[in-house]
Amino acid sequence: MGLELKCSNIEQELGIESTCPFVAHGEDMDELMKVMKKHAKEVHGYTDEQLEDPETIAVMQKHTASIE
Ligand SMILES: [Zn+2]
Repeated sequence: MGLELKCSNIEQELGIESTCPFVAHGEDMDELMKVMKKHAKEVHGYTDEQLEDPETIAVMQKHTASIE
């Protein structure tokens, strides 16, 4: 069991054309967010401020899926 979050889903929801193949995996929400935020910063140039935005966090949570 775990959680996964597709980067392209987030960007589409935020109105950004995305072909990013990255999928974050985590045991729980904390771990998943850590992985996703690291990726967003390193690859897409997001700032901590942008990633702490409640709207951005809500989008990430919305697209988080449980996996077996
Ligand atoms: Zn990405």
